[in-house]
This record gives sequence, structure tokens and C-alpha cells, in this order.
Amino acid sequence: SRSVCLMRRLRMEETRSFCAEHRACLDDWLNRGIKNGFVKLYLQPKMNLTRQEITGAEVLARYEDPSKGLLTPDDFIPQLEDAGLIGMLDLYIMERSYRLLRDLRAAGLKLIPLSVNFSKNTLLAPGLLDEVERIGAGFEALRGYMEIEITESVGNVSRPDFTAACAALRAAGYRLALDDFGSEYSNLYMMSAFRFDVIKIDKAVVAEVADNEISRALVESTVNICGKLGIGCIAEGVENKEQAEILTTLGCPDVQGYLIDRPLPSEEFTVKYLEGR
Ligand code: C2E
Ligand code: CA
Ligand code: CA
Ligand code: CA
Repeated sequence: SRSVCLMRRLRMEETRSFCAEHRACLDDWLNRGIKNGFVKLYLQPKMNLTRQEITGAEVLARYEDPSKGLLTPDDFIPQLEDAGLIGMLDLYIMERSYRLLRDLRAAGLKLIPLSVNFSKNTLLAPGLLDEVERIGAGFEALRGYMEIEITESVGNVSRPDFTAACAALRAAGYRLALDDFGSEYSNLYMMSAFRFDVIKIDKAVVAEVADNEISRALVESTVNICGKLGIGCIAEGVENKEQAEILTTLGCPDVQGYLIDRPLPSEEFTVKYLEGR
């Protein structure tokens, strides 16, 4: 049955469709990962270059598969999305992030805001708010440290549904970021559907900022819009000093990327960035 499942998974990669048996197989794989602690939280710092200060961290999922080794999101997130299972992962990561914040506070460390990723499929799932409230119960004092990044996913989104789901999370006390801004999935249309707390400029824009005047103009106008609205703006995928300098000059000193650090296992992140501060 394992090989049948694998065959189906391969076929799915071709067709991007799935069958009930395949879904059950993935469901089982994810549940095993959650139960056995194979699903790991990796944290990547966000930094304000002007203040030279860590302003938060993004939580990124990894799956340490006993047979395949460390899997990154590209290896499993599209499949989970197609099978309608991404919400289970997103909510699990949120719960673990709350527990991490609680442990950090218990250890007497200064907290930084964490951001978790919600696929649009998660955002639009019926009953999402109840689940989020269930997870957040008992962590009320930490809610201000939990930010949700709304990430691309397959499928069309109806604007009223999108706006309503964002508004419900906001009303529940969450800060919301629009992820991958400037990519094919995240644009002015999405930005105007809801007043986000933060806009994250996509790494594809950042990658061209040194060579492409259009990318620089895009950063400048995004910074300008965010300034007018009084919301935050951060550039992701910043890999070198040249990009960092250009972004700072264009008014975007808040960055995330390999220049600052790679995503690190949460224990390593804690030692490196939070202990002894
Ligand atoms: P994202 O939300 O845009 O996250 C940033 C991705 O860029 C991460 O990839 C990160 O490792 C990578 N990155 C960071 N700095 C740099 C850099 O300087 N250069 C380049 N080229 N890349 C950089 P990762 O961890 O492989 O995650 C890929 C995507 O998977 C994420 O993109 C996000 O959309 C999704 N993802 C990750 N964790 C979750 C999750 O728990 N739930 C959901 N729904 N999606 C997730
Ligand atoms: Ca993200
Ligand atoms: Ca992103
Ligand atoms: Ca992405």
C-alpha cells in the first residue's frame, strides 16, 4: 500500500489532482509527523538595519522524515494544499509557536513577535476562527506577539470572503501581514482588499533591485503606500549588502534574508538571538 501511495503521489505531481486514498496517505503522514515530533519549527530573524535590531522572526515549517531526511516546504506544502490538509499544518505551527513564546517568557527572555504562515486555503476554511480561538485560549497574554502572514496558494479567492476572513482574525487580536507582495499571487488588488499591518515585499522583487529600475520603483511606491497608510513594510530574500543598502535608501530598512541569517532550528535561534540579550 505504501508503494501504491507513492505511485499515486508521483502521478499527483503530474496532474495536481488527488484521490481519497492519496489524501488518507498524506493525512496519515502529517499526523505521524505531528505525533512523533518530526514537524519542526525553523525561525528566521527580521532586522531593522537602521537600528541594527532584531524585530521579530518568521516561523517556517520543516519535516524531518525518518527515511527521506529534512524536507523543506516545497517538498510537501503544494501536496498538502491540494489534499485540503494545509490548515492542519498551519494551525499546528501556530500552536507550537505559542508554546515557544510561553517557554521563552518562562525562561525570562525578552520576547520578539513571531509570524506564522497561513495559506489562503487555511484562511478561508470554514470554522477557522473557532480553531484559532481554541489554540489561542490560555495564551491571551501572548497574542500581541503572534502575527499571521497570508501566503499564496492555489485557487481563486473571492474578495469578500478574503476580506471577511482577515477582518475576523484582526478582531480576534492578530496582526496580519500580506506575504509575497509583488509576486504573481499578491498584488495591489489583494492589498486593497484589507488594511494589513505589514506588507512583505517578495524576494523576486528584491533579487532584481540592484539591476532593475522597475523593481526599485516598485519598492519605492510600496514604501510610499505603506507610509501613507501607517503600516509596516519589510523586504524578504535580502541576500547581500548591495540590496540592503538600496532598500534602506529607498526607505525600507526592515529586512529578512540570508544576509542576516538562514532559518534556524528554534533551539539554535533562541541561543543565538534571544539568550544573553
Ligand atoms: P515564504 O513565506 O515567502 O518564506 C520565505 C522563504 O524564503 C523561506 O523558504 C525561506 O527559507 C526563504 N528565504 C529566506 N531568506 C532567503 C534569501 O535570502 N534568499 C532566498 N532565495 N530565499 C530565502 P522555505 O522555508 O523553504 O519556505 C517556502 C515557502 O513555504 C514559504 O515562503 C511559505 O510560503 C511556505 N511555508 C513555509 N512554512 C509554512 C507553513 O507553516 N504554512 C504554510 N501555509 N506555508 C508555509
Ligand atoms: Ca511568509
Ligand atoms: Ca514571502
Ligand atoms: Ca512564498
